[in-house]
Amino acid sequence: MISEWMDQSNKTVVFTGAGMSTESGLPDFRSALQGMWRNKDPKYYASTYALTHARAEFIQFYRQRITGLLAHRPHVGHHLLAEWERRGRVQGIITQNVDGFHQAAGSLRVASLHGNLNRLFCMGCQATYPAEQFLTDAGIHCQCGGFIRPAVVLFGEALPDHEVRLAEELISGVELLIVLGSSLQVSPANLFPLLAKEQGAKLVIVNWEPTEFDEEADWVVNGKKIGDWLQQVHRELNQK
Ligand code: NAD
Repeated sequence: MISEWMDQSNKTVVFTGAGMSTESGLPDFRSALQGMWRNKDPKYYASTYALTHARAEFIQFYRQRITGLLAHRPHVGHHLLAEWERRGRVQGIITQNVDGFHQAAGSLRVASLHGNLNRLFCMGCQATYPAEQFLTDAGIHCQCGGFIRPAVVLFGEALPDHEVRLAEELISGVELLIVLGSSLQVSPANLFPLLAKEQGAKLVIVNWEPTEFDEEADWVVNGKKIGDWLQQVHRELNQK
């Protein structure tokens, strides 16, 4: 079914969330609440509040996330999406993920709505640095005296203009939008699937558990791992 829709579509875009990268070994927010990060809501640490008022906890949280990121790699699903883009099957990706795995796998048109955990920037002079530097105490203090923080969008911050513009370009005229691994609870990123739907696009949601947006979707796949689902669709496309 989906491979047929992909054949018919002149513009297919993929929208990904943290569930896209769990098969690489990175926890999503849901699993984080079930044990990682000491059962404290990651939305607390990943916030402008923690950056300002709980700096030590903020640093500890992001050191843990950066250490996890550096230890993991894109999986077969990320690589298939990159291959689909090369073959003209997919025109781009809108992602809420900060791991950079789509780009590492070779995807070119990626709107990273929530920034990038692989980079740091100084809050004083805006100089940028690689993520590894965050792991040492010396690495978080810029020569200008500013604090060096991860280049991710925190809860309480606006999305980066250029990434939103790319996402809007991708959504414009989209005929098929495939959501992979997002609970679709984080706003405003979760508005993009609805924007696609408003334009008459077919909406497919592939997520382990149901989402609040399932009623809007033309096709919902629950209880299946994204990597397995992508490989299945890939085989169907190759049989054509
Ligand atoms: P979420 O954690 O709210 O939802 C992830 C969804 O993916 C869940 O509903 C889960 O059931 C599903 N899922 C998990 N593994 C799956 C698999 N293998 N196959 C199919 N479904 C699977 O994530 P979200 O909607 O992206 O929103 C939370 C926020 O978390 C985002 O802002 C994002 O920036 C941030 N985040 C990113 C990363 C990352 O970059 N890898 C990791 C954790 C959190």
